[in-house]
Amino acid sequence: MSLSPARLERFARHIVLPEVGGAGQVRLAQSKVAIIGLGGIGSPALQYLAASGIGRLALVDDDVVDVSNLQRQTIFTTRDVGYGKAVSARRWLANFDDALHVDVSDARITPDNAAGLIAGSDVVLDGTDNFATRLAVSDACVASGIPLLSAAVGRFQGQVGAWTGHLPGEACYRCFVGDAFDAEDCDTCADDGMLGAMAGWVATFAAMQAIKVLLAGVSAMGDPGFGKLHILDGLDPGMRTIRIAKDPACKACGSPA
Ligand SMILES: [Zn+2]
Repeated sequence: MSLSPARLERFARHIVLPEVGGAGQVRLAQSKVAIIGLGGIGSPALQYLAASGIGRLALVDDDVVDVSNLQRQTIFTTRDVGYGKAVSARRWLANFDDALHVDVSDARITPDNAAGLIAGSDVVLDGTDNFATRLAVSDACVASGIPLLSAAVGRFQGQVGAWTGHLPGEACYRCFVGDAFDAEDCDTCADDGMLGAMAGWVATFAAMQAIKVLLAGVSAMGDPGFGKLHILDGLDPGMRTIRIAKDPACKACGSPA
């Protein structure tokens, strides 16, 4: 595959980076990324992933745009209020770059349909707002052998982790949080509040880490850092990184004796 002159011009600032280069840009153009949840994380992440020239995007969200979303969900405008997030996101993408292929679903992702919704993806970026959904997405990624970027934010703290539980010795998201949250929708931001720009920081960092996953082995963008959890603090700005070990008893990726 080679990029057309128009695409070379569009992505010139990427291609000039030795860490991306022409080979990296071609790889991005050949990649498919699934974005689960188009809210405070998924919306800015979608903008940067689309801008990076990723060839195919699969967007999944069953929610409808509410006026209170506009404070942080940057792809939506006042005109989108009342319309589905998935269809509104497709409209944004069509205006932004009509060369990108987009699959949208307004299904609620569950353990039953997750594998189908992420099928064929090179990486999944999960920005949903509850543990039950995040675990369903993680389990489907492990079963399908797809790397997962999981990102979450509340108030002024965010978390971004890259997971490859399908690989020996590598943790999955369930190894990190355990099984206690499968049935709970306990951590949505409606009660706690969230600064919009904080969600943007977490989302764009997750998008950058997703690009590292895509470019691993193709260009020198670096180590995607599988099994590492980055904790972003917005009030006293900084980032801590911890390593999460694979749980041998994990019901998604472990191999209990
Ligand atoms: Zn696991």
